[in-house]
Amino acid sequence: MTELPSPSLRPGGPPSRSARRMMLVHAHPDDESINNGATMARYAAEGVHVTLVTCTLGERGEVIPPELAHLSGAALGQHRMGELAEAMRALGVDDFRLLGGAGRYSDSGMMGLPDNDDPGCFWQADVDQAAGLLAEVIREVRPQVLVTYDERGGYGHPDHIQAHRVAMRAVELAAGAGADEADGWDVPKVYWNRMPRPVAEAAFARLEDELSGLPFDKAGSIGDLPGVVSEVHVTTEVDGTAYAAAKAAAMRAHATQITVAEPYFVLSNALAQPLFTTEYYELVRGERSVGRESDLFAGVDTGVGAGEAS
Ligand SMILES: [Zn+2]
Repeated sequence: MTELPSPSLRPGGPPSRSARRMMLVHAHPDDESINNGATMARYAAEGVHVTLVTCTLGERGEVIPPELAHLSGAALGQHRMGELAEAMRALGVDDFRLLGGAGRYSDSGMMGLPDNDDPGCFWQADVDQAAGLLAEVIREVRPQVLVTYDERGGYGHPDHIQAHRVAMRAVELAAGAGADEADGWDVPKVYWNRMPRPVAEAAFARLEDELSGLPFDKAGSIGDLPGVVSEVHVTTEVDGTAYAAAKAAAMRAHATQITVAEPYFVLSNALAQPLFTTEYYELVRGERSVGRESDLFAGVDTGVGAGEAS
């Protein structure tokens, strides 16, 4: 079967001419750079069409720089759209979208806060409705690889849990379940972001040793990391070492949320954590390879020669 360039449903949007296409579904601007920045930069550099779908603008994020502390709500969301655009420039990704358009779903805030009850927040979104919007993007882009969080959203933030639910449901809807199957797209491989516990332990041990030389006062702990699992759950390891600078630049672009001192960074809690440039995944849909994969597209028939190679 020959892979044809996918048509774009977006008026004026660029049709994807790449044979290999990946999509990432994230909750807030900055999650993509922290979790997948090296992966995104690497695949974009290799000619893969990389599509980021972000579900909210992160309007309830805590702002780090004092000079930007006046930003909150819609003004912060607007500012973070600019940060996201700058981060995507750093990663070489030009297809990034807000689910349902900017402001369709707002940040739900941390679990247990009254913000979670805001009818416009992503946590309150109807999963099928939001997944329908995402399924449209999946059918347009036709990614062979989709990356999102596990069922706990990696660490329990309501928007991350909801992003997981919406992404997994959208994969079903896009494949044609309950819809027009003729236009469907069955995503061959779905991954969740992971962090192998031994890798995290080694990195935090190094951080303890190096903390005195860093501009950060305290180190975080493994409990601060999303998606930590034992090695057996990790199916795939993407070496993005060559894209460390791009990942760090993308994280720096999210200046309201992140302060970077390579190879470490802090969020608003001011607890230092490692900046990983090898990123880990668990394949949850698709054929597993023997041994650990080093490529998210491993085993995918991309119609070689039809796309970015030409
Ligand atoms: Zn987030």
